[in-house]
Amino acid sequence: MPWELPRDLDTPALVVDLGRLEANLASMASHAATAGVALQPHAKTHKSVEIARRQRAHGAHGLTVATVGEAEVFATAGFDDLFVAYPLLPTGPKATRLRAVGDLARVRVGVAAPEAAPLLARALDATTRAQVLVELDAGHHRTGVSPEEAVAVARACADAGLEVVGVFTHPGHVYGGPGAAAGAAADEARVLAEGAQRLAHAGFEPRVLSGGSTPTARLAAPPATDRWAHEQRPGSYVFNDRIQCALGAAVPDQVATVVAATVVARGPGGRFVIDAGSKALGAERVDYLVGFGEVVDGGGAGGPGSVVTRLSEHHGTVETIREPPAPGTVVAVVPNHVCPVVDHFDEYLVADGGEIVDRWPVDARGRLA
Ligand code: PLP
Repeated sequence: MPWELPRDLDTPALVVDLGRLEANLASMASHAATAGVALQPHAKTHKSVEIARRQRAHGAHGLTVATVGEAEVFATAGFDDLFVAYPLLPTGPKATRLRAVGDLARVRVGVAAPEAAPLLARALDATTRAQVLVELDAGHHRTGVSPEEAVAVARACADAGLEVVGVFTHPGHVYGGPGAAAGAAADEARVLAEGAQRLAHAGFEPRVLSGGSTPTARLAAPPATDRWAHEQRPGSYVFNDRIQCALGAAVPDQVATVVAATVVARGPGGRFVIDAGSKALGAERVDYLVGFGEVVDGGGAGGPGSVVTRLSEHHGTVETIREPPAPGTVVAVVPNHVCPVVDHFDEYLVADGGEIVDRWPVDARGRLA
């Protein structure tokens, strides 16, 4: 089914298709229920209280966030089970803010270095619910320690008075290119099991093994044990994007969010220019995709072969193998990576059957700190 944009849009605009969104939420929830995995979806993708409520209605246990600012937004909106899956080292105002979140919600925090332990304990000491998960590196080589090093991090946490409830990882190396998903999912399962076993041998009682990325969420096979709960934290699955399609984690019909843009000029040689530049579409590139996004609907230019190949702040240049659409035509663009794109907009225009039926604020927009 091609993307069908509502008419009379003020562009650039962030448009979410309600039917596709609901289908994505239902499909991941049903997978998690069947696999016996708790869903703690990552809210950094949508940053929206309304979408988080829908995830909860579909059975999500709690929410994952990346920053204290995001935690503040969702705790204030009544979400009482939050995992800050980020290795925080809170001092000063951030420590005060984290403590306030801990007063509103059960908050678990990631820890990847012994140095973080006293800072987290100090920040969370006013609550009786200060729980941490040790971050493991499954092969992404961003943050996280090896299963062997996890014991030292856990000991530092226990010494500081924190409760170590488990381990977590993000197998981000899955985004290296098509074909990486099965290996990354296996890496995730292996380090989580190994990390939990090492903590258990050292006298800890890990209860939660938390993994997560959209391309691996349906592949991660929890090792057969009833000693600990498995949790998945996919984020991008709510909308999907060009990268998820390239990796085989989604098909084009599952792309639920696009940037609507107006053609402002037509150039020679199959080129046209839209009013969505890097400030709307982001500028993220990967070496297995050409350009910054793809036009999927609008004036005959939709479909493979219409790619955003150049960006300035407010202009996107599209190269197409089709007849370039006339200036004034509104087109739908699927960005490479949807999460940072959302952060460029104040609101979602919610479309159903080609009509705008609602507007939802991007509640946690700009909550980077
Ligand atoms: N958990 C962590 C720690 C992450 O960094 C991310 C994504 O960056 C996710 C979960 C969700 O991954 P995805 O966007 O692939 O769904």
